Amino acid sequence: MAISDPAGAAARLTVDLGAIVENWRRLGRLAPATAIGAAVKADAYGLGAAAVAPALARAGCRDFFVAHLEEGLVLRRLLPHPARIFVLNGVSAMAAAVMRQARLIPILNTPADIAHWQAEARRAGTPLDAGLHVDTGINRLGFPVAEFAALLAEPVRLAGIAVRLAMSHLACSDEPAHPLNHLQLERFRGAAEHPALAGVPRSLANSGGLLLGPEFAFDVARPGLALYGVEPRAPGRGMLLPVLGLEADILQLRDVDAPDTVGYGASHPVRGRRRVATVAVGYADGYMRAAGNCGAGLIGATEVPIIGRISMDLMTLDVTDVPIEQCRPGSAVTLIGNGLPLHRVAAAMDTIPYEVMTRLGSRFARHYVGGEA
Ligand SMILES: *Cc1c(COP(=O)(O)O)cnc(C)c1O
Repeated sequence: MAISDPAGAAARLTVDLGAIVENWRRLGRLAPATAIGAAVKADAYGLGAAAVAPALARAGCRDFFVAHLEEGLVLRRLLPHPARIFVLNGVSAMAAAVMRQARLIPILNTPADIAHWQAEARRAGTPLDAGLHVDTGINRLGFPVAEFAALLAEPVRLAGIAVRLAMSHLACSDEPAHPLNHLQLERFRGAAEHPALAGVPRSLANSGGLLLGPEFAFDVARPGLALYGVEPRAPGRGMLLPVLGLEADILQLRDVDAPDTVGYGASHPVRGRRRVATVAVGYADGYMRAAGNCGAGLIGATEVPIIGRISMDLMTLDVTDVPIEQCRPGSAVTLIGNGLPLHRVAAAMDTIPYEVMTRLGSRFARHYVGGEA
């Protein structure tokens, strides 16, 4: 199924929905008593929530997490009730009515979030579903532990709110030995044990958290990255299926020789006779400039180094070692996938897979495969 195919797109992004569903099932086997939800914020990490979320819902995923109201509204059109859509960043006074009408469930992070949702519950004349977020050590979003305890100690402060989830978020889940993981676990257990939360499902784990061990899994998990094929702490171990592929066609080939240079700033001095291929992917497509002169592509089994700077719409690769029949104008160069895993590409860009995925550009032709009902 091709969702979008911009005319003349010179690069193709392939998203394997079947692999996402399979990764979701594999995470479920790690924690059989846990409902595995899905973080689909930021357009499912750039992969396209409109395709990813319904594929997961068809497979039985029920809980979806987005960051913003707008993301929740888009998702609600694709995922009818009973899919639950949690909005992590809370609820503003402006957003409350729209959020209720779309049956989105805000995660309440601050006293102001609570006040806005309570006011909406009064207008609606009925209690409204919400999640509560306790910050156990990331110091980013949610009620500090002491404030959380004070809140729960006075039931009237949650009047009109039907608490459906008690959650916290780990700061170091991709570092299993980090002492903060167990500290956060203990704080979360303590915070969620309050009698006011009796029977309320608990959620602590993102992808890394699920891999820390069963004690981190609780009732609901919120993985993102692992669904999209990247194992947080041992990428490439093969526990998950790769999801993302990026391929571009060669626009032009040229032979160069010393003392030629390649690209802006003449930053790549050619040493001897080399063949240079140009493909139409650049930093405006999210292929980050930091990979200039250090990243690579693949043609068949041959690794082809990126030479020169990445420019806005183009990059150049040294294809001297590629057999000539695999390397003509129009031949495909793999930039992500098929032996070139996303975590390696991210490392060449001096960043993390999350950032690479969420920057994937709008000029690619996007192809979705697998994941049917
Ligand atoms: C983004 C996010 C997740 C998902 O994290 P991954 O590391 O991609 O699994 C889970 N919970 C919260 C609060 C998040 O912001």
